[in-house]
Amino acid sequence: MPGTNLTRDEAATRAALLDVTSYAIDLDLTAATAAEHTGTFGSTTTIAFTCREPGAETFADLVDAQVHEITLNGEPLDPATAYADSRIALPGLQAENVLVVRADCTYSHTGEGLHRFVDPTDDRVYLYSQFEVPDARRVFTTFEQPDLKAPFTFTVTAPSHWVVVSNSPTPEPRAVDGDAGKAVWAFEPTQPMSTYITAIVAGEYHAEHDVYEGKHGSIPLGHYCRQSLVEHMDTAELVKITKQSFEFFEEKFDFPYPFGKYDQLYVPEYNMGAMENAGCVTLRDEYLPRSRQPRSFYEFRTSVITHEMAHMWFGDLVTMKWWDDLWLNESFAEWACYWCEAEATEFTDAWTGFANARKQTGYRADQLPSTHPIAADNVDLHAVEVNFDMITYAKGASVLKQLVAWVGLDPFVAGLRQYFKDHAFGNATFADLLAALERSSGRELGGWAQEWLQTAGVNTLAPRFELDGEGRYTSFSVEQSAHPDQPTLRRHRLGIGLYDEVGGRLVRREYVEVDVEGASTAVEELVGREQPALLLLNDEDHAYAKIRLDERSLATVVSGLSRLEDSLPRALAWGAAWDMTRDGEMRTTDWVRLVLANIGQETDAWGVTRIPASTALAVEFYSDPAGRPALRAEWESGLRELLLAAEPGSDHQLTFVRSYALAAHGEQAVADLRGLLDGSFTVEGLSVDQDLRWELVKNLARTGAIGEAEIDAELDRDPTNAGKEKAAAARVAQPTAAAKEAGWAAVMDPATPNETSREMVFSIFRFGQEDVLAPYLEKYLEAADTAIDLLGFHKGSVVLEYGFPKALASAETVARLDAWLADNDAPKGAQRYVGEARAEVVRALAAQERDARS
Ligand SMILES: [Zn+2]
Repeated sequence: MPGTNLTRDEAATRAALLDVTSYAIDLDLTAATAAEHTGTFGSTTTIAFTCREPGAETFADLVDAQVHEITLNGEPLDPATAYADSRIALPGLQAENVLVVRADCTYSHTGEGLHRFVDPTDDRVYLYSQFEVPDARRVFTTFEQPDLKAPFTFTVTAPSHWVVVSNSPTPEPRAVDGDAGKAVWAFEPTQPMSTYITAIVAGEYHAEHDVYEGKHGSIPLGHYCRQSLVEHMDTAELVKITKQSFEFFEEKFDFPYPFGKYDQLYVPEYNMGAMENAGCVTLRDEYLPRSRQPRSFYEFRTSVITHEMAHMWFGDLVTMKWWDDLWLNESFAEWACYWCEAEATEFTDAWTGFANARKQTGYRADQLPSTHPIAADNVDLHAVEVNFDMITYAKGASVLKQLVAWVGLDPFVAGLRQYFKDHAFGNATFADLLAALERSSGRELGGWAQEWLQTAGVNTLAPRFELDGEGRYTSFSVEQSAHPDQPTLRRHRLGIGLYDEVGGRLVRREYVEVDVEGASTAVEELVGREQPALLLLNDEDHAYAKIRLDERSLATVVSGLSRLEDSLPRALAWGAAWDMTRDGEMRTTDWVRLVLANIGQETDAWGVTRIPASTALAVEFYSDPAGRPALRAEWESGLRELLLAAEPGSDHQLTFVRSYALAAHGEQAVADLRGLLDGSFTVEGLSVDQDLRWELVKNLARTGAIGEAEIDAELDRDPTNAGKEKAAAARVAQPTAAAKEAGWAAVMDPATPNETSREMVFSIFRFGQEDVLAPYLEKYLEAADTAIDLLGFHKGSVVLEYGFPKALASAETVARLDAWLADNDAPKGAQRYVGEARAEVVRALAAQERDARS
């Protein structure tokens, strides 16, 4: 029984049999107003397609629908027998076929399919679709696979005061006879595209329009949000970034933007960052902040905008054949988004941000038991779900960055241009791209692809050298190692920087670039050179590898990492020290002191926000429990000092106050949080706006200093959707058994909206609350069996990925997880998260032990 699964083989068989000529989709959304909401909408699909073997049979896809009528080539099929297991059986195909399916489909509250949201601020209704990976079939009848491209013609009946947006430009709505409350939007056919990048967004959205005038002509731009966020949509800034990105990509890709117009719609309760629907990009509306955010927020938002735009060419114009190449789709957009951001927008050191933040998530994922080769073997849709992770995005992008260093940027771009020309509006595979790059670069890349894409794991690179009596290298090599579970050694294009102390700064004296291969690579260029204060492997960050610092270099970093002038080598030094802390080679206390002494001078936006967040985890999770109270106090008071010393109104100040709130345990800190909230404690230049107020409320609730009454009062001040979500997070943070019980019940309730559930999951299990968390190891394991089926894939995954009670780390917990992993019937996706939780606990216990020994 396929359920909602689809295998690669089935898709290949269907693609070999069919060509899809066109889709016509008629949606009736008029039952979706707040008053008469029925939970369903009308969906009539007409698919014209040819068949290479008349007489053969196939199937179409449709999920969670009430099917009223199926007609194949004019002959009715009985829905009661033809529609089963989310499929419509299509027997006796002719050379030319027309399938008509009339159904009612179901609105989603999980962010998958056609999501329906009512804004509590004003009761207005908003809908948007989210189809990747296989969810277009929740809204209309499809052949749900990326290589059956076709033009789509959408016709939408909706309340006449709504806005309706899709892949084609929005037409003038036409009146419906006899019903002034309804109108029909008849969209023009789209370019040929895959089902997963089609889109419908409808509701009382606010719209602003602009035009990009580019080298290939003009592109109408639209920006949309719900009415209650209008004042927060900084359209001029968004338009500026959009235009900068178009100019960059049209130039670099040497191919006109293929989809006519470009709308970006900021939508509520969105599961991910954004989605590259052709010409109709949806983004989470948290990107329109109502309160002050640090620069890293805007840097990230810009990378999301550039990421989705890169997909218009790589993904939408040329599309993967099957989800095997999903990694390439995402890795490419990731790599290209930072490339564009660094070269075309104000975020010129975006690659430092990449090193400080995104790349770290790749390293982390690659050291978990769930790691897999970048090019995953996605035999079916279930496998795709399991493999859609930070190996796909962050490691993939890092490895493409290494590939660019390996072949050179110009040949890389030349290969891309050819690839777009050769496969426009069609499908291609990684082999097609590799062939284009081999032609443009003249390098054989098959071996490179094999060692980087077909194997998992991260290598560690360490310097090894001898010195003469005057402190000069008499030998120098780069030693490469691998974890025994993932033993592949790889070729790396590697920069090495030599930094000396000059006038209180660390200044680069020399930089060499070498190709590292095998267990040991001699670097003759460095023999005879004087040993520097800091020897930095992977300077310039071309390589994807963990790096180690030699003893002297580590001492230099610890005594003043901020003396490095440039942000990128600092990011590498931070990264090396963090890896050593996670690997139990550096004491947590030393890491905390390194951060406290240097974070105040860090200039990279991502460094400033990300490093304190990692440190909070180190204090609570990696430190020796016996020494933890003292380390907590040191971290807490250090953050207070940093907060008070930070430049008024700076990002540092905002980040430190948030970190301080999160760290608050002691009396002084709790009193400070209360004072910030009621205005009796002020910090010059720090405005305590609504989002910061919620941070304070949430953490005061966590410590038990305030309760339900104060949370209710805050919600009265902020009765918005965001306010409701933050209040839910504050309630579950309270250190009481009742709060955890109510919170967990809500998290496991399918009726809880996806974004509310996510906020609760992030907030419910706090360090320092071990006594009330004890029952939740078993409850988490019960959820592993049921959450994905019960809550849907995305919501269920959030619960399992982020809802493990880490505070219960102990040898007994590991033993219990081992026993569960040895014997369970949970879905693979769920087993994966349990395995990851176990690995994180084991890592933390090892680090704790290391701390306890020293
Ligand atoms: Zn993407």
